[in-house]
Amino acid sequence: MAYHGDSKIEEGNALRILIAEDDATLAQALSFTLTQAGYAVDRVDNGLAADAALKGDSFGLLILDLGLPRLDGFEVLRRLRKHNTSLPVLILSGREQPEEKVTGLDLGADDYLVKPFALNELQARVRALLRRGAGSGAPTLQYGHLSFDSVGRVASVDGSPLPLSLHEAGVLEVLLRRFGRVVSKEQLVEQLYSYDKEVSHNAIEVYVHRLRKKLTHTGVEVRTHYGRGYVIDHAQALNHK
Ligand code: CA
Repeated sequence: MAYHGDSKIEEGNALRILIAEDDATLAQALSFTLTQAGYAVDRVDNGLAADAALKGDSFGLLILDLGLPRLDGFEVLRRLRKHNTSLPVLILSGREQPEEKVTGLDLGADDYLVKPFALNELQARVRALLRRGAGSGAPTLQYGHLSFDSVGRVASVDGSPLPLSLHEAGVLEVLLRRFGRVVSKEQLVEQLYSYDKEVSHNAIEVYVHRLRKKLTHTGVEVRTHYGRGYVIDHAQALNHK
């Protein structure tokens, strides 16, 4: 396992959140807020689409409206838990009956928000769920002089903050999760971006290029494996020309 400590977030993709919500205005607001916070967000507006997405893709968190067309949120959750017991699920509901909260939690939801709610409240719950999903140990990746807090998405070098753009931080996290192993550009695109955003391989090259410069003197480096992708590993200072 690439992680130091006892964190267990190798499973799933903590950067990627699926929102299942048929209220377009709310879904858009959630998507905007979470994208701004640095997550990749996928949206579906009915239960069947949510079910299909959950079977086909890897997410770090599901935000699930209970009142969904075609398949309600309870059924989506019931089906999810048959094949995935660990994905954190945050239920959204306009229904205020306490028994629905109990039903949702019994079915394996991890948290519950009643509409309307403040977006900063939602963000706080999302962070808490991702932290919990990451195991209660500190989800900080530490290599050489570099450390990366995968919840706060903050990198530092010997304790001093290393300024990174959202994209650079995303690339760094994906590479660190596979420390010493090659990550293809396709994997970076897949893990960092939503279905509805086209990201060129050139853009990935630019993020990697910037990241590589910022990682000078951190004890780790990003290497290019031509035709295969990138790998982050301990720096080989002696090989530098
Ligand atoms: Ca609804």
